[in-house]
Amino acid sequence: MRILTVIGNRPQFVKAAAVSRLLRKRHEEVLVHTGQHYDDELSQVFFEELGVPAPDRRLGAGGGSNTEQTARILGLLEGVLLQTAPDLVLVYGDTNSTLAGALAAAQAGMPVAHVEAGMRSFDRTMPEELNRVVVDHASLLLLCSTETAVANLRREAVVGQAHLVGDVMADVSIAFRPIAAERSSALADLGLLEGGYLLATAHRAGNVDEAERLARLVELLESLPLPTVLPLHPRTAARLEATGLRGRLEAAPRVRLTPPMGYLDFMHLEMHARAILTDSGGVQKEAYLLGVPCVTLRESTEWTETVEAGWNTLVGLDRDAALRALGRPVPAAARPELYGGGRASERVCDAIDAYTARG
Ligand code: UDP
Repeated sequence: MRILTVIGNRPQFVKAAAVSRLLRKRHEEVLVHTGQHYDDELSQVFFEELGVPAPDRRLGAGGGSNTEQTARILGLLEGVLLQTAPDLVLVYGDTNSTLAGALAAAQAGMPVAHVEAGMRSFDRTMPEELNRVVVDHASLLLLCSTETAVANLRREAVVGQAHLVGDVMADVSIAFRPIAAERSSALADLGLLEGGYLLATAHRAGNVDEAERLARLVELLESLPLPTVLPLHPRTAARLEATGLRGRLEAAPRVRLTPPMGYLDFMHLEMHARAILTDSGGVQKEAYLLGVPCVTLRESTEWTETVEAGWNTLVGLDRDAALRALGRPVPAAARPELYGGGRASERVCDAIDAYTARG
């Protein structure tokens, strides 16, 4: 079978690292990089470190608003789909590349498999939430990370088949832990002590696009009680520049700004952080898997199990709530295995095999 996979941004490179290797043992894969993320720091480093196969096609469709970008990818993909005639199109997550991949394939009458299907924050103001809902309803094979996701899809009466497979990002997190421990010197390079610092990331549109929200984020970060490493996503860096807030963060005595990190250095810092503050979906999961308390800088999350298990606290941009969350003791109970134990990509490939075999 020929499977065409659409990827385009940082978390999708991580997800493809888990799946492409296995998929290629059983099928022909055409890997399309949309160019949604094009900086080396957000793209190339993940191919190198995680062994993601080189893309077969590069669409170079980065930049612009969500609508412009989605439309550009959609237009370019139409030709690629006609030329390559895949038996199935595989998309990951909730980005413009996911939406365009799913729509282009569905319009061409090709079956779509969606990895990380059924995730819902129930916050329709998030562009990602709109993408998730539309993609799930355009997909025929819905590969879910959690039971909650399966239940969400059932409630929405999607037409595709839903399978609980676990989370493919968890596969990568588990597999690369020893490699990060061996190869990364990020802790020493930054002069940090194990358990003696916080790690933060922020790039959601809802947190960084409006100047007033961004200022609240900066105030929150300034008030944190430990050295705080903040690898700056380009979107956040651009907004900090545009609003003149970058100088304030640079002057904050405990905040350490860095460029976006490669996977191994970032994971090394995640492993040894006292806690992680983030608005990233992937990072919430990774914190849980590593047993590091997470403070989520959003009012809602798709990864509700991490909150229920007591390892993740939602604080939005409320500084006092963040400080209180950091003071909470870690749960004494063992962490339940939530994300498939490192075998999700195998189950993704099995589900694809079963689906394509049925013809
Ligand atoms: N990540 C990384 N370097 C960084 C920040 C994040 O390698 O400086 C990784 C992180 O470990 C996770 C993924 O990028 O695997 C999450 O991506 P992001 O936060 O951009 O996306 P989201 O999960 O929010 O969609």
